[in-house]
Amino acid sequence: MGTIVKIQALKGFKDILPQEVALWRQLEEKARQVFERFTCEEIRLPILEETELFARSIGEATDIVEKEMYTFVDKKVTMRPEATASLLRAYIEHGLHVVKPVQRLFTIGPMFRHERPQKGRLRQFHQLDVEVLGSQHPRVDAELMAMAATLLDELSIATSLEINSLGCPACRPLYREKLLLFIEGCKDSLCADCRRRSVVNPLRVLDCKVASCRAQVEEAPSLVEHLCAECAEHFAQVRGGLEQLGIAHKVNKFMVRGLDYYCRTTFEFVTGDLGAQAAVGAGGRYDGLIESLGGPKGCPGIGFAMGMERLVLLMQQRQGEKAADPGIDLFIAAMGEMAVARGFALGHELRRLGRSVAMDYEGRSLKSQMKQANKAGARYALIIGDDELAAGRGQLRPMDGEEQRTVELDAAALATCF
Ligand code: ATP
Ligand code: MG
Repeated sequence: MGTIVKIQALKGFKDILPQEVALWRQLEEKARQVFERFTCEEIRLPILEETELFARSIGEATDIVEKEMYTFVDKKVTMRPEATASLLRAYIEHGLHVVKPVQRLFTIGPMFRHERPQKGRLRQFHQLDVEVLGSQHPRVDAELMAMAATLLDELSIATSLEINSLGCPACRPLYREKLLLFIEGCKDSLCADCRRRSVVNPLRVLDCKVASCRAQVEEAPSLVEHLCAECAEHFAQVRGGLEQLGIAHKVNKFMVRGLDYYCRTTFEFVTGDLGAQAAVGAGGRYDGLIESLGGPKGCPGIGFAMGMERLVLLMQQRQGEKAADPGIDLFIAAMGEMAVARGFALGHELRRLGRSVAMDYEGRSLKSQMKQANKAGARYALIIGDDELAAGRGQLRPMDGEEQRTVELDAAALATCF
């Protein structure tokens, strides 16, 4: 026989093992609670969409669409790299704007991007995604950021909020011209990527991570200083709203989000605790996007996404923490074939009554079974030996060391004990 080659998970694709799942569930439950307090409703979306949807919404000249998408070329479909596009597609397809003038929706699930895996950066990763559709009121922006800040706060994750405004189709083109002039002047000291970007998407130069480009960019004109009157007023009101809610933030005038569709408010929650992967969540307003996807005319929207892997890493770092093992109610330690048969049926009845029950069928010693009970985090062990069985009784032993007592082998009676 030849040697058997073990198959491993793909690079950048990670198993979330049982001992990690508790923390993931804690995160998901907290997120649902907080989002629902802000009256957001959950929506569940497909993972596969037409490639065209992402090309049109995220933009052809973005890193995601240029090089990170998992696309089935022959079928013209793509594994979603983010959730906003799919969520808007669903919003439009089902006419959700008719149901409610302002829709607050959230979704939780895996996203796929072909990028270099690192700590906090995977090829299949998970996001919490929230979108508020149908209002361009600056209070909506402030409320949305306040919601994200509340979630982070309740998870005891320390971040800072950076915000910026990207203007609108009225003010951005003028600024773009100014920026192009500036780039022209320092083109030779920019990296190759930036020289290429400056043609297709000059704003992205502001976002470059290369040190020499960053140094140049310090001198660049900034968009917040070139906003039209409406955008400047909107931005001022967003900041005023954040202040009213006591949400600390600072303006990062060179923050440009990677996606083409953003306008006006953009924001990021950043942490110093994750090395290079500083952003735990990010989002922004996209007032022209819904219409450009065939939705209602002029329908505005704003949203954000948080990276769950990064949140889980921070939760783990926070207290060196593992979520508490919930344990089980009962371990049945039965000795002898008849006792095992009785325990087998009794365990099933107790599970039907809502109790969590484990049992060992391998005929191991009492000592070994009690060890298993301990390991399983059982609150009680029920010991059934063949002799007691004749009398329909067993010993119920609290695992916290309290004295054991004789009990009837009756599921309904037992269920009242724990
Ligand atoms: P980054 O600058 O880290 O690449 P991004 O701008 O591409 O982030 P978004 O598309 O805005 O990220 O996604 C929102 C959040 O999703 C990010 O802030 C991050 O926490 C998380 N995220 C993005 N890409 C990944 C990835 N490959 N692996 C894990 N988390 C990710
Ligand atoms: Mg990215």
